[in-house]
Amino acid sequence: MKIRLPLAQKLIPVKQKLIQFKQNLIPLKQNLISIKQNLIPLKQNLIQLKQNSKKPDIAIVGVGGLGSVACKMLARTVDNDFVLFDDDIVNISNLHRQILYTEADIGEKKVDAAVRRIHDINPKLSVTANAVKLTKSNLNKLDARVVLDCADNLKISYLLNRYCVKKKIPLIFATVAGDHGFVKVIDGDACLNCFYKQPREAENSGNIGVLNTAVTLASSIQLEMAMQILKGQPYEKSLISFDIYNLRITKIKVLQRKDCGVCR
Ligand SMILES: [Zn+2]
Repeated sequence: MKIRLPLAQKLIPVKQKLIQFKQNLIPLKQNLISIKQNLIPLKQNLIQLKQNSKKPDIAIVGVGGLGSVACKMLARTVDNDFVLFDDDIVNISNLHRQILYTEADIGEKKVDAAVRRIHDINPKLSVTANAVKLTKSNLNKLDARVVLDCADNLKISYLLNRYCVKKKIPLIFATVAGDHGFVKVIDGDACLNCFYKQPREAENSGNIGVLNTAVTLASSIQLEMAMQILKGQPYEKSLISFDIYNLRITKIKVLQRKDCGVCR
């Protein structure tokens, strides 16, 4: 015969189990607190690691005519950190269009004179100088959110084009010859190889004189494109061609070549 216990008595073992369960939870909670405390230094290390591995915003390859203007303007903008590449030294023949330098800088490495001048304008700016000529073997030094091609040598431009297309780094190509200039963002569409298939077809400021006003205009367009990319804004994808003497600016739609060996 079954004896019916009052409900209160039936609940006693359930309550005891509940008390036991709560007591078991205490060490678990303590373990959780300990794990959280251990996570704090790990998070701090991660933040430090991210800060140390942060890419510079802009890499400027070549601090001649175009690069000089870019450095002067960047030094006066907000706080974009950038890195410079150039192995050349300042020469008296540079001074008419390489507006970063003065006679006092003649004989000095351009990147060193450039960093000094940038810090004269903005001492807090983070800028790194690399007095090296970029070649196939050291291109892996180049890493930034945006690369400005300010080289006056199309061989370097082609190297940058191939590397940046492969690494998916937006590259802003610019070149000036006489009173003409061209600027093109290369980022997932037609690359330099698509519109200058053979290097010998292209003009090169290394062997043609240039107007300093044309250099300043090309650099301004180039830097504006860089800022739009860094801010995540839509930017002009056409090849921008200008003739500063006749005050003409033309946007030319460039298609990817089906046989391009670089971007296809
Ligand atoms: Zn291409």
